[in-house]
Amino acid sequence: MKQTYQELITKAVNTQQLTYEEITMLLGAGDAQQMLVRAADEVRRKAVGDDVHLRGLIEFSNRCRQNCCYCGLRRDNRGLERYYLKEDDVIDLAQEAVRCGYRTVVLQSGEDAYFTADRMAYIIRKIKENDVAVTLSIGEKSREEYRTYREAGANRYLLRIETTNEKLYAKMHPGQELANRKRCLYDLKELGYEVGTGSLIGLPTQTDEMIAKDILFFKELGADMIGLGPFIPHDDTPLRAEAGGDFDKSLRVLALVRLLLPYTNIPATTAMETLRPKEGRRLALGAGANVVMLNVTSRDRRGLYQLYPGKPRAKDEPMEDRLRLEEEIRAMGRTIGMTQGVSKAWQQEINE
Ligand code: SF4
Repeated sequence: MKQTYQELITKAVNTQQLTYEEITMLLGAGDAQQMLVRAADEVRRKAVGDDVHLRGLIEFSNRCRQNCCYCGLRRDNRGLERYYLKEDDVIDLAQEAVRCGYRTVVLQSGEDAYFTADRMAYIIRKIKENDVAVTLSIGEKSREEYRTYREAGANRYLLRIETTNEKLYAKMHPGQELANRKRCLYDLKELGYEVGTGSLIGLPTQTDEMIAKDILFFKELGADMIGLGPFIPHDDTPLRAEAGGDFDKSLRVLALVRLLLPYTNIPATTAMETLRPKEGRRLALGAGANVVMLNVTSRDRRGLYQLYPGKPRAKDEPMEDRLRLEEEIRAMGRTIGMTQGVSKAWQQEINE
């Protein structure tokens, strides 16, 4: 059996292609994990190098009109104290991130109607005066809104598909449609963004077959960044009593994604770190990840941005986080990216 797994991994390394059945088989193979992780680490090294790119994350509003069943920011969670930062406060935080040495600023929020396209364009333009890449993670918008942000200078957009299974998607996202999420991602692609997507691993009723289809979707889209995180049940959501996602399964998904999309940027997500506080980030970086997002939102707001519970380092100051991470990266024999860390997958596309 091991030989079969090794053959599949070799095929993935050599061709970047696996069938749906082959991906499913490897996802279910706990005893192939070490081989998979080793191969993904090697592919990562050859394809994108040893640099780990750091992103400064600003969570500027926890208000959201959507009601995703797994998320603590969902509209129906009345117990959460809501906040948003005014435009100039977001810009100040971004400037602080730049002073701390970040070459990319990630602006993340719930779907907050206060932040109209014009307000976002103002923020983006101001931040772009600092010679940094701007990534947005602000949800489903119209093509016109995406165009406005892009014209204002936004470089990247993160919008996870979470699951490509129509039934599961509908169950997890009341009032939203998978087709619209896909429309957003393809609009973003056509507008020239570096497009990030990804999945939640371990959602209730999710199967390996469904995750295999997610991975094939990432390939079909030509994703430039892929964020993967285990599902972590939040007490103030309808999924509070569900079992959470499995760390090792998430690691296998990450490794497989690296094998099949070698040039994409893959973050070591905080959700991985939440499940394994001491080693989650290191293990993800050792299984194909090459990006880490660090929160630069002030300490008093951080605890209120609870997509899921138990987020690590919620009480640390931004610079403490960063210095600890830099040490961790060096201890792994990796280097800290000094550039904006543009996705190689995206670079290749625009050169075609
Ligand atoms: S996942 Fe995003 S869109 Fe859904 S409720 Fe949470 S913040 Fe809102």
